[in-house]
Amino acid sequence: MNNQATMQVKLIDHASAPLEKLYAAFRTCYSSDTPIEIWEKIKADKISREKIRHFIAERLKTGHASPLEQIVFWFAISNVSRSLSHQFVRHRIGISFEQQSQRYVKFKQNKLAFVMPDSWTRAGLDDEFDQLLARTSELYERALKAGIPAEDARFILPNAAPTNFHIMVNFAEMLHICDIRLCLRAQWEIRRMVALMRAEIRRALPEVAIFLQPKCGENRMGYCDESFDDWQKCPLGKARPHKSSLFELYERYGSRKARALGEAEFRAVEEKEIL
Ligand SMILES: Cc1cc2nc3c(=O)[nH]c(=O)nc-3n(C[C@H](O)[C@H](O)[C@H](O)COP(=O)(O)OP(=O)(O)OC[C@H]3O[C@@H](n4cnc5c(N)ncnc54)[C@H](O)[C@@H]3O)c2cc1C
Repeated sequence: MNNQATMQVKLIDHASAPLEKLYAAFRTCYSSDTPIEIWEKIKADKISREKIRHFIAERLKTGHASPLEQIVFWFAISNVSRSLSHQFVRHRIGISFEQQSQRYVKFKQNKLAFVMPDSWTRAGLDDEFDQLLARTSELYERALKAGIPAEDARFILPNAAPTNFHIMVNFAEMLHICDIRLCLRAQWEIRRMVALMRAEIRRALPEVAIFLQPKCGENRMGYCDESFDDWQKCPLGKARPHKSSLFELYERYGSRKARALGEAEFRAVEEKEIL
């Protein structure tokens, strides 16, 4: 029986005073005070915690997102599969990865734990999964002993092989990752990892974590933009509306009708000075 790898996710560190930093960054854009004066007010407790929280929540409803990049988190993540890692490293903005190397690390047969999805157990195929991976481990070790370099021996390692990360991610990207990876459409393992990342931030910074939701959450886009079928199957569908029902309400009770944007609308945006 192979070892089963157990995922671990730990928040190592985060930007200090993140709410205050967010407040000062946003406020700098909208205030005649200098940032130094804004910080003096924050430090002198002239701005209540409630005001800071409210101000940030209001800014998060807008498209002004760059201040969110000034808040950073560091995570240590271990025992996730290579199939997760391939998905994870597709995120390319606002996140920095260090990943355990299969070139420099030679895995020991008795230490090579694999990630096995529960579906293999439910299907009664877990023993065969174990046997195949035990055989893979054994051949991998023999390959190393025969002088095959680790960078070549790894060619037989499967998606189930475990890997580790040390990452740095900013708040803007963490929000985006939660938007799409806490959604039920995301694969279960990366969804579990992101849920654990959120739980870690929640323990350390609950006032920041309230914004970390799947995209349908009330603090994010607010509705599901996936297919109607997927929405119907999702447990969150009981709490959050699908975009089609919002359009229906707009049509039924709104004083306006939704229609396709034509050239007239584009001209109106060009010409109108409304902001
Ligand atoms: C449910 C699901 C299914 C998926 N299925 C597949 C699949 O079948 N095949 C596949 O190849 N991938 C798939 N992906 C991966 C997906 O296409 C993205 O590569 C991945 O989610 C990374 O997200 P991102 O592109 O938003 O990058 P991030 O780096 O997280 O992007 C952060 C933000 O920056 C924007 N951004 C990033 N780069 C640019 C750029 N160059 N120009 C403009 N804006 C940019 C993004 O749009 C986003 O708003 C899937 C992802 C999910 C969640």
